[in-house]
Amino acid sequence: MIFEDLGLGPDVLKAVTDAGYRVPTAIQEKAIPVALQGRDLLGCAQTGTGKTAAFVLPMIDILSGSRAKARMPRALILSPTRELAQQTFENFEIYAKNAELDAALLIGGTSMRDQEKVLESDIDVLIATPGRLLDLIERGQILMRGVKFLVIDEADRMLDMGFIPDVERIVGFLPPLRQTLMFSATMPKEIRKLADKFLHNPKEITVAPPASPAEMVEQSLVRVANARDKGKALRKLLEGEAVGNAMIFCNRKRDVDSLTRSLRRFGFDVVRMQGDMDQRSREAALSAFKSGEAKFLVCTDVAGRGIDIFGLSHVFCYDVPVNAEDYVHRIGRTGRAGHRGRAYVFATPEDSKGLAAITRLIRRDIEEVTVDGKAAEHTAAPAEAEPDEADEAPKTENKGRRKKSAAKKDGKAKKADKAADKEAAQPRDDDEPAKAESRRRRKKERDDEKVPFGKGDHVPAFLMRSIVIDDDSKDARSA
Ligand code: AMP
Repeated sequence: MIFEDLGLGPDVLKAVTDAGYRVPTAIQEKAIPVALQGRDLLGCAQTGTGKTAAFVLPMIDILSGSRAKARMPRALILSPTRELAQQTFENFEIYAKNAELDAALLIGGTSMRDQEKVLESDIDVLIATPGRLLDLIERGQILMRGVKFLVIDEADRMLDMGFIPDVERIVGFLPPLRQTLMFSATMPKEIRKLADKFLHNPKEITVAPPASPAEMVEQSLVRVANARDKGKALRKLLEGEAVGNAMIFCNRKRDVDSLTRSLRRFGFDVVRMQGDMDQRSREAALSAFKSGEAKFLVCTDVAGRGIDIFGLSHVFCYDVPVNAEDYVHRIGRTGRAGHRGRAYVFATPEDSKGLAAITRLIRRDIEEVTVDGKAAEHTAAPAEAEPDEADEAPKTENKGRRKKSAAKKDGKAKKADKAADKEAAQPRDDDEPAKAESRRRRKKERDDEKVPFGKGDHVPAFLMRSIVIDDDSKDARSA
């Protein structure tokens, strides 16, 4: 099938050709004719299947021909995250370049004033995250009565993020007579319930079995003995494989931060994205990653959701995700639009349950690989070390060898040490006493092992004394 067979108008077809698309993807082939008929649609499709064009292209066709009135948009696309909304907005601009339609992006973390100003002009399409849109509706800045075309994108993620009550309120402002398209990567029963509520006699379209991982992704499992070994294994893979660019997923925000610092210390071009960062920093990180200025993006699931990097070569699950479905979302960042991709998941013995949930969900085992030709052993697992603890000195190294290696340290390694010290002294959001104690102990051990550079064998005792940073009191001060 070709795009011309789908019933789209000439302006949209030209934009599609200019975008370099030759044939429609499966979801586009099935969804576009249905949407053009004006029917509601429930699409089960993963990211990377071309689902954005599947709803944006018919939307442009339907809206073309008439114009919006001020503050009365005619279509609304709801996205769970700012990044996905931003990406949909960028896609809209490409696909609607020959149509006289204007879109506004309404997302949190950016100036409310600017967005209010944009809404003063005639906007046809709103692309929004639920929270910011509700704020603007409640301030009386937009009238939703004219919205006749609604898209709820990544509905399962909306559910995970607790946005469904907001979505329900927003839908309450829309006219009941409208066309609604809902997309979801997975179809749990809560999503079906929502579909019953929001959609009217929808055509259901599934392009891949629910939660089946992208077929173009070669998946591998790296077993490591403990958290500390993950860092080493990751660096080996980043250095050894032909990694063009990669997203590296962590479960926790603070691990995103520490892994980023650690990788930087080892000279990798890394940026990070996690939910506590302000919108400007997130955008700066994303643009550095998209432009290739930074090869690696370390992120959490929420921040990394919906990010579409054309030709992303690798995905690393630094942690086994808490929800098995997130594994599918993570690896779906690569292997998109006909390109092959590679995904690695690192697992410690503690991750066996999480791993089993993934293999149950994807209905297959993940091929186990060894890094550096040596199988990681699943024995003794003193997994207390944090990800950024991975260093060039193995744990078993004795002090004598360590002295020798310290004397040989090049400038880069010294810099890395300095960064580690600075980091150890930094306040963290983790205030569990056991962990704080463990950090203090590790900092002390590091100080005790340190050989002052260029001081000879005799070192005044006061120089060798360790300084113990009281993390708890620091945390309390900075809270
Ligand atoms: P999506 O699933 O909407 O995030 O799209 C994934 C990627 O596929 C994006 O980079 C799109 O630009 C690309 N894409 C969408 N439709 C097509 C198509 N028909 N042919 C080639 N690439 C496409």
